[in-house]
Amino acid sequence: MIYNISIVAPLYNEQEIFPSLIMRLNALMERSIEKIEIVLVNDGSSDDTEKLMQQTALTYPNYNCISLARNFGHQNALTAGLSLARGTEAVLIIDGDLQDPPELLFEMLTTLRSGSDVVYAVRKKRKEGFLKKLTAQLFYRILQTISYIKIPLDAGDFCLISRRVADILNAMPEESRYLRGMRSWVGFKQTPCEYERDERTLGKTKFSYKKMIQFAYIGIFNFSTFPVKIIKRIGYVSIIFSIVYAIYIIYKKLVYNNVADGFTTLIIVILFFSGIQMFFLGIVGEYLLNIFFQVKGRPLFIVKSQIRDGAIFPAST
Ligand code: UDP
Ligand code: MG
Repeated sequence: MIYNISIVAPLYNEQEIFPSLIMRLNALMERSIEKIEIVLVNDGSSDDTEKLMQQTALTYPNYNCISLARNFGHQNALTAGLSLARGTEAVLIIDGDLQDPPELLFEMLTTLRSGSDVVYAVRKKRKEGFLKKLTAQLFYRILQTISYIKIPLDAGDFCLISRRVADILNAMPEESRYLRGMRSWVGFKQTPCEYERDERTLGKTKFSYKKMIQFAYIGIFNFSTFPVKIIKRIGYVSIIFSIVYAIYIIYKKLVYNNVADGFTTLIIVILFFSGIQMFFLGIVGEYLLNIFFQVKGRPLFIVKSQIRDGAIFPAST
């Protein structure tokens, strides 16, 4: 079967919302004249998501359902879905919890067809908690200021990309994936599409604050050299500061000969700068860690099973 559009959604313990997701997607396909393939990626769920997904794939032949060998995380699950999506014209990336309305496909497709390669959804209104909204907005603004490519504000992974952009993303071997940044990096004509991000109606968020901070780090350390640059700048300032201070001490010694009272200052300076050094060693370490994981060249995900075109694939012997 040839499909021109793939819709990719990662799922991690989404058994509560799963039936609504399938209903929404089926309704969308009924309305559409496009040949749509749905690519669902079960990211090592421990609930009934896998079972439900497999039942769906065996009922509807246009569902392409992939189960990963364990939980590889949202970005890697998306990567898996993207690399196994077969849509010849475009791929739509959504969250599996219906926070990204899949119906936006039609509007995005019109934009894509009028000459864009990437149509990315921008959250006009977020119906989310105050703290999540605040931290997300703050983070995107900081990242845009310090990153070396222009990553649009308030845009997540929700987007429609052309086949050639999907192929390019699939060919990018980087280990720590920040897909919204990689997507911006690719280039071509990229057009925003505004939407209201819905609330999650069923199930719980899979992103704890710890995971969100980790994800923010991935964004910063993969798309910005600012943290390393600032080390250098603060290094310069501290050298100048210490020279000035040394001149002052020498002057005091020569003129008044009473330097011993500098003990307090000494301790403060030592403490302060050893703190700064530790902090900056940490920043250098972040980049080093990235290199460390990259050189291992491990696969980004491992497929345990796949059901597509109504059959288990690859066919078990
Ligand atoms: N998800 C995933 N693997 C993970 C965490 C999340 O595949 O390790 C999926 C999850 O099932 C959902 C999407 O990624 O479909 C977005 O996650 P979530 O809704 O929890 O994030 P939030 O919208 O709260 O930022
Ligand atoms: Mg969500």
